[in-house]
Amino acid sequence: MDAQIRRLSGANMDIDLATPPGAIAWAQEQCPWNRAEGTGTHRCATKNVSICPHFRGVEYMDTVLCAYPGQGEPGGESSPPR
Ligand code: SF4
Repeated sequence: MDAQIRRLSGANMDIDLATPPGAIAWAQEQCPWNRAEGTGTHRCATKNVSICPHFRGVEYMDTVLCAYPGQGEPGGESSPPR
């Protein structure tokens, strides 16, 4: 079955890779910016507020595309410049 995929701009998203361990029922990789700074303040997209400058979208189903430098693909030191 081929479902039609629409691309709709302007979503008001709320996405993070900063949930404390044990607060959700699935494994979550850590934001490299938070890891580098030893914090949990950076969010990919904060509803009604902002989108992280390193955020490059989401890949099905729940994979964040992050361009924070120095962490490998995507957008890291081993990636070609955008
Ligand atoms: S886009 Fe990357 S650097 Fe920005 S908050 Fe998300 S995981 Fe962290």
